[in-house]
Amino acid sequence: MKKIIITLCIGSLLTFSCKNSVQDQKKEISETSQKSDFQYSAKSALKYLTSDELNGRDTGSEGIDKAAIYIENAFEKFEVEPYFETYRDSFKLKEADGFNVVGVLKAEESNDLTPLVIGAHYDHVGIIEAVEKDSIANGANDNASGTVAVLELAKYLASQDLKRDVIFALFSAEEKGLVGSRHLATKMKSMEVEPYLVFNIEMLGVQMKDKNYRAYITGYEMSNLAEVFNGFYEDETEFLGFLPQAAQYGLFKRSDNYPFYETFGVPSHTICTFDFTNYEYYHHVNDEFEELDVEAYLKLVNDLKPGVLKLVNSTETTVNLN
Ligand SMILES: [Zn+2]
Repeated sequence: MKKIIITLCIGSLLTFSCKNSVQDQKKEISETSQKSDFQYSAKSALKYLTSDELNGRDTGSEGIDKAAIYIENAFEKFEVEPYFETYRDSFKLKEADGFNVVGVLKAEESNDLTPLVIGAHYDHVGIIEAVEKDSIANGANDNASGTVAVLELAKYLASQDLKRDVIFALFSAEEKGLVGSRHLATKMKSMEVEPYLVFNIEMLGVQMKDKNYRAYITGYEMSNLAEVFNGFYEDETEFLGFLPQAAQYGLFKRSDNYPFYETFGVPSHTICTFDFTNYEYYHHVNDEFEELDVEAYLKLVNDLKPGVLKLVNSTETTVNLN
């Protein structure tokens, strides 16, 4: 999520401070990601996107370019088509070149149903003030976890018959003020493509405790999404719930769902499990792979899949703004 206070960036001066022992690992990771026989697993994706090689995926950096190439390779492997001429949806951000990575799975029969957008930002804040000589903000929870959740949903939905198009949008420059998502929403508006629903994903890597729901959505009261989604499951624990702090801190306006709501006035929410008490490393150099509960995260993402498929395949507009 976009931090309200802009994090002090001390730039490339500190990039050399990453441990030397990491160099060999980096080389290995780099070679793996460039092989033509691209191997994908959710865990390896999470590891690669959070590796020091990517230097915290700051918009306009070499590191985020590597993340984008990884996402493109995964899309290609899953046979998700580029949404535009290529997967890249480019924009200018002051001196930097930013780009979202956007793919689409088409409905089995073309129809008038509006597309569902599944999104997450894949950028992070790059190099920040060092803590014990580590200056790389790896952004594992924020938001490699959301990025890999989108990849997992893409992989799953690619194997299903779909009643409506699904657009998979990995946004850049979220951390610079929701720039990438605003760019894509504006572009879709000019193309007269209105989403049915925007399902944005942030920070699922650490689970909540002592709650009677598994994740919360921002802007909970604004539509019936939680009610509809929970209706797809028979579990006693509700899947999507209301976190009071999300309303208190205005999270609805602090992630990439918001520009779509502003532009189209359609249901747009962010699903998240960061509850302000379960993770100490928000925008911190220790937001690393090792700090996530990977098994619980993968279970949550797997359990989301059938519900998301039902959202895609509702041929009526069952999710509406309240
Ligand atoms: Zn975020």
